[in-house]
Amino acid sequence: MKKIRKYIFVVGGVISGVGKGITTSSIGKILQSHGYRVTAMKIDPYVNVDAGTMNPTEHGEVFVLKDGDETDQDMGNYERFLDTSLTRDNYMTTGRVYLSVIQKERALAYKGKCVQVVPHIPYEVIDRINNAVDKANAEIVVIEVGGTVGEYENILFLETARMLKIKNPDDVLFAIVSYLPTPSKVGEMKTKPTQHAVRALNSTGIQPDFIIARSDVALDAKRKEKLALFCNVIPESVISAPDVDSIYDVPGNFEKDKLGEKILKRLKLKSRGESAEWKEWKAFARKAGNVKDEVRIAIVGKYFDTGDYVLADSYLSVIEALKYSAIHQGKKAKLVWLSATTFEGKDAPLAELIGFDGILVPGGFGSRGVEGKLNVIRFAREHKIPYFGICYGMQLAVIEYARNVLGFKDATSREIDSKSKHLIVDIMEGQKENMEKGNLGGSMRLGAYEAVLKKGTIAQRAYGKDSVVERHRHRFEVNPEYVGALEEKGLVFSGMSPDGRLMEIAELPTSVHPFFLGTQFHPEFEARPLDPHPIFNAFIKAAIARGKGR
Ligand code: GLN
Repeated sequence: MKKIRKYIFVVGGVISGVGKGITTSSIGKILQSHGYRVTAMKIDPYVNVDAGTMNPTEHGEVFVLKDGDETDQDMGNYERFLDTSLTRDNYMTTGRVYLSVIQKERALAYKGKCVQVVPHIPYEVIDRINNAVDKANAEIVVIEVGGTVGEYENILFLETARMLKIKNPDDVLFAIVSYLPTPSKVGEMKTKPTQHAVRALNSTGIQPDFIIARSDVALDAKRKEKLALFCNVIPESVISAPDVDSIYDVPGNFEKDKLGEKILKRLKLKSRGESAEWKEWKAFARKAGNVKDEVRIAIVGKYFDTGDYVLADSYLSVIEALKYSAIHQGKKAKLVWLSATTFEGKDAPLAELIGFDGILVPGGFGSRGVEGKLNVIRFAREHKIPYFGICYGMQLAVIEYARNVLGFKDATSREIDSKSKHLIVDIMEGQKENMEKGNLGGSMRLGAYEAVLKKGTIAQRAYGKDSVVERHRHRFEVNPEYVGALEEKGLVFSGMSPDGRLMEIAELPTSVHPFFLGTQFHPEFEARPLDPHPIFNAFIKAAIARGKGR
């Protein structure tokens, strides 16, 4: 039997943030539901080699893969929707592609040829796509091309897709996710911007097979016909994708439009019948839509103010992980964003925190907002409010403990003040050299590492095992010199690296606090809709208990 290998390219029209990532994930999901092995890829047009060197307010969360690659937040959506772990083969940027072509050229891999932007860059991209499909042993790959059609940045990737289609006409399919605005003064949904986007796509030699029409409300027949007529597709290929309350409804909505079957037909494939996992997904999506009772969580961070807007994208995986654990416990996670800087100084509105069922301090970098976070953590500890610290949120919890319980008033991290006498969080040998040499891209402690758990602790009981593998992204570590002193005063390091040198989890016993725990790693990257993360589950459970007790 001939091996199946099909490529679906998803591009965006009219505006950025139109929902390409969720569309890509959802298309993958529905094809899985028809029994196919699916993988997903993201192509980002920027020159950065990875997303790790960008501020999250620029680009949203940096999603870390198991193998340590620092990627785009959409990779997280693919992992969660497809319930799979992706690798660095599934992610590329313009920078990454050029870097490898240039490295190959220096190694004479092109055997004396003149190396050109076209075709060598598209060939490199095609090789990378095929390599990812091979490694994932997938039959269908859904490839999201970042950016919006019509901009200069992603032209080469569209050229790649075109070249692939010419060689494999039955195996390549294009979907454009485009936006249909309804201007408030006009009161009518407008198709023209999408018509222009499709023309822009046509000018690269690509005709979309499907138009995924994003809008406030569902498209009517008139709009479908108009788009079909002017964009050269049959009306059935215009898929209405109105705003939904819950992203988990998107695959189901696509299926109502029979998108899965339509795609399979185009690719000359047949449905293999409904997968068992699809039923579970639908049940989860239904539950997600029905939970009403709230568990109120404050997230204290600094990466959500962009101009006049609050954008929580920087913490996307944390948000999702909290939601999953809440939904599985029959609750709706009500998340409130609190800016760390507002909790600095004497008049900090700490009393506000009493109204929350739980407080979370997520990962972060640098010194801005740190004093505010420390005040919040102290308040959570002293008032027995469930506290969950992730990465920086764990390091700061340890620093807070050193300051206020051990009495080291100048306790801090080298990242904040290298001159302090009590560097409770410090840099380890290997990282020193990276810092000195300015080797700062992709050089943190990244990806999956094992942690050994201490019996009977919150962490060990939550996981129900003695060792775990979790994803990391940090440069600094709890200073081993202080571990003894901290433990003597009651802090428990319930997770450590197998050699016992790196502190992976810190917590307080439940006899003194209902839930006070921090992880050096990022458990949010492992949370899945159908398989919520044990530590998030335990945190939400403690938060629900606090809500009930009040
Ligand atoms: N800034 C800290 C470090 O580099 C924590 C990083 C994080 O929270 N992801 O160690």
